[in-house]
Amino acid sequence: MTEHELRLQMVETCRQMNATGINQGTSGNLSARLDDGFLITPSSLPYDQMKPNDLVEMDFEGTFVGGRPSSEWRFHRDILKNRPDIDIVLHCHSVYATTLACHHRNIPAFHYMIGVAGGTTIRCADYATFGTQELSDAALAALDGRRACLLGQHGQIAVGKTLEETLWLATEVETLSRLYVQALALGDPPILSDAEMARVIDQMQRMSYGLGPEPEGSNDVPRPRS
Ligand code: 13P
Ligand code: ZN
Repeated sequence: MTEHELRLQMVETCRQMNATGINQGTSGNLSARLDDGFLITPSSLPYDQMKPNDLVEMDFEGTFVGGRPSSEWRFHRDILKNRPDIDIVLHCHSVYATTLACHHRNIPAFHYMIGVAGGTTIRCADYATFGTQELSDAALAALDGRRACLLGQHGQIAVGKTLEETLWLATEVETLSRLYVQALALGDPPILSDAEMARVIDQMQRMSYGLGPEPEGSNDVPRPRS
């Protein structure tokens, strides 16, 4: 894919963030890895006005080409630098995920789909002021071994290999957050055991459940009838 095609796809993903309702106003930001740096959304520009050339090119030292990069460039840079398995970082203030983050709640395995974030919980990072290195450090710690986290009294981050998969994951985190808030309204829901969550994550990997390609040599999978 050329850089221009990537810019077009990032603008489209930002529009979808608004259309799905996980983002509104000028909150949220998105980045995508380049060969020796990354593209990131500009700060405080509404996505319906954003054009491909408004995306800012940065390197891992923090120098940039273009307009003013997102105030959260530090956590985008640090995640892309420290996680070679990740090419896309998406941040938003989706309402239910942020509701839980306002109470600094980790989301436990109350539902098996928690496994799509890569573990038995979706952690909530400690609060730190937006745009700071402290927030980046807290986010990186909460994302250890995971593909999503909440940010205390702030929002959520989802990470992935492609724009499509990462948008899907952020939307799934929001749905799970909504379910958890509703489940809590009836009391503390039961939590799936670590052993069961290990089976769930294994099953998700075998079935490539939003987590990558079908492993070689899988048997016992449905086959199209010839
Ligand atoms: P930017 O517009 O600078 O990306 O900030 C939005 C935001 O969500 C800050 O955390
Ligand atoms: Zn934010």
